Amino acid sequence: MRTQLTTYFARLFAGDLSAFGGPATDDAVAGHIRAEQMSLVLGYSVGIMLANACNAIVLAIALWASPDRTFALIWAGTVAAAAIAFGVQSRAARRITKPHFVSQRAMHRLVRNAFLLGAAWGIVPVAFFANASTGGQLVITCLCSGMLAGGALAFATIPIAAIAFTAPIFVGIAICLGRNGDLAFLLIAFLVVVYGSVLLRGVFVNSFSFARRVMRQIEAERTVRQDPLTHLPNRFAFNETLDAALKRLALSGEEFAVLLLDLDRFKEVNDKFGHPAGDEFLVQVAGRLQRCTRAAEHVARIGGDEFALVMANLARPEDALEIAERFVVAFDEPFQIEGRQIVGATSVGIVLAPRDGNMALDIMKNADAALYRAKKAGPGTVCFFEQADDRLSRDRKALQADLEGAIARDELFLVFQPFLDLDENRITGFEALLRWQHPSRGLVPPSEFIGIAEETGLIHEIGEWVIRRACATLADWPEDIRVAVNFSASQFHDTAILHTIVQALADAKVSPCRFEIEITESMLLSKYGSAASILNALLQLGVTVALDDFGTGFSSLTYLRKLPFSRIKIDQSFIRDMLVQPDCAAIVKSVISLARDLNIAVVAEGVETADQLEYLRQVSCDEVQGYLISRPVSADSVLALLNTKKYRAIYAA
Ligand code: C2E
Ligand code: MG
Ligand code: MG
Repeated sequence: MRTQLTTYFARLFAGDLSAFGGPATDDAVAGHIRAEQMSLVLGYSVGIMLANACNAIVLAIALWASPDRTFALIWAGTVAAAAIAFGVQSRAARRITKPHFVSQRAMHRLVRNAFLLGAAWGIVPVAFFANASTGGQLVITCLCSGMLAGGALAFATIPIAAIAFTAPIFVGIAICLGRNGDLAFLLIAFLVVVYGSVLLRGVFVNSFSFARRVMRQIEAERTVRQDPLTHLPNRFAFNETLDAALKRLALSGEEFAVLLLDLDRFKEVNDKFGHPAGDEFLVQVAGRLQRCTRAAEHVARIGGDEFALVMANLARPEDALEIAERFVVAFDEPFQIEGRQIVGATSVGIVLAPRDGNMALDIMKNADAALYRAKKAGPGTVCFFEQADDRLSRDRKALQADLEGAIARDELFLVFQPFLDLDENRITGFEALLRWQHPSRGLVPPSEFIGIAEETGLIHEIGEWVIRRACATLADWPEDIRVAVNFSASQFHDTAILHTIVQALADAKVSPCRFEIEITESMLLSKYGSAASILNALLQLGVTVALDDFGTGFSSLTYLRKLPFSRIKIDQSFIRDMLVQPDCAAIVKSVISLARDLNIAVVAEGVETADQLEYLRQVSCDEVQGYLISRPVSADSVLALLNTKKYRAIYAA
């Protein structure tokens, strides 16, 4: 009960309107409202203090002939001096930038000062009215009414301060009038009560609407700075925090760190389980990340699955590393989403300012470069920025710029790697693999540029070129030979791909059943994506679909039920190890037998030795692909390869 009363009075004297039944707020908002109230009062204060000083001097003159002259002079001198001192002080306070938060204690001081000043004026009618001349009494009456109205105006947004200031004056007037039984004075007393009530009512109405307006403004500012999904600060708020840290760095040399996070395989979660699950995942991730930071520091969501943190006043780089490691560990436990367990991970890039940059652009660019290296090293990696990253990222940018004109400059070409059917001992088709002949770097492998093409969206243009070129090449091959083309997930986000394939097949006059699409497990979108419908439309056309790199993605056989696949391509990592690791052999064998039950053919990728080929024959694998049979060859060499008797001899058992 006592603590309740204490907090009530603390709120009351801090100008909190909920103490009067006004809108209730949390501490942060209350502090913000106090800051606005205080700034308004400071805005008036110079004028009001000048008025106080003037009034005190006027009173001293009016009481010059009164027997209380000495006391009146002392009083006026004190009040005028205090008013001038306070006016000068508040002028200085106004020059400093407006704070966003004012403490309860600062407001308590303001209310106390209002009371002291009010009390000083409350003394006037009590001490000087009785002995004053009629003119002096008139001046006192005018001054007291003026102070009441002026005080109410000055503290119009802070009722408790208005009360603290005006109450002593009311009391002073009441004592003064009460001592004198004259009817005229009683009438004046009645008027004072009426004016006082109207004034107070006005103060309350005004202050409540002021507080509501500030709250709406805070809410609007919050919306602008908040990510609506996770309620974390957004990119805008992050940039402000970064700018503030840069300002402190310039002013006082305060060092700081920026941690940039990117969720590993978030896209897969989104694609596999749908956007609502992806959203829920992000919300849970946000909660976990926020629990890892130091007090008063907030992780911001600055992109789809990108988060960032500014660590101000950094004592040691190890502190940043410690928080980054906490972020990584926060993903140890799987996430529970819609009754499923989802495993997540994050990579973190760390930049130290000013060591790695003292401008926002450099800092973010370098954080990106560090993050890129972390991601490349695998999920859950933390990397500090190194100068080499900068070179790497510039190199990547240069490669990206070069890739943009690669098609126009005719630098892309396809090579073809055959599939060998183990039953018939003949080549049944070729996989088209993309190559880039860079003018200065030489041959760039797809592992180095497909990722860039996907990130920049160039994959659509490049993918279309691959489809057309593969179909045109296929037209020259025998009827029983197919071509398989690799697709990136993003190519299936646009239904135009359907049209491209149909058109390319028609232009080349080849049957759709000779065209195969290779997709990876991670591309198998849930019902929310457009990919499933595009793939189904292609299947209707007669195009076949192969599941590439099987075993490296989610490794779930349930995918096989999602689409009528013609083929599964067991990833080369299993083939490489199957003769030395029994579990790899077991996987290869069981995938083959399962596929047989489902009536799906199996291709073994990356066959490099005769022993591997022999084993695959024994376990009845349908087709093989790998350097043993042939490395990828140019389009010109395909027909020669098909006709080479020598090759046929090697494949035969
Ligand atoms: P992938 O579809 O799994 O292609 C097989 C990769 O394994 C090819 O590498 C091929 O050269 C290599 N390979 C084949 N046999 C062997 C072997 O016996 N031993 C070893 N160690 N490797 C072998 P490549 O051409 O560098 O392609 C890498 C990946 O790039 C491909 O993996 C595919 O995912 C992607 N890719 C290639 N061309 C395209 C394309 O046109 N579009 C898209 N979206 N992705 C492509
Ligand atoms: Mg492939
Ligand atoms: Mg593959």
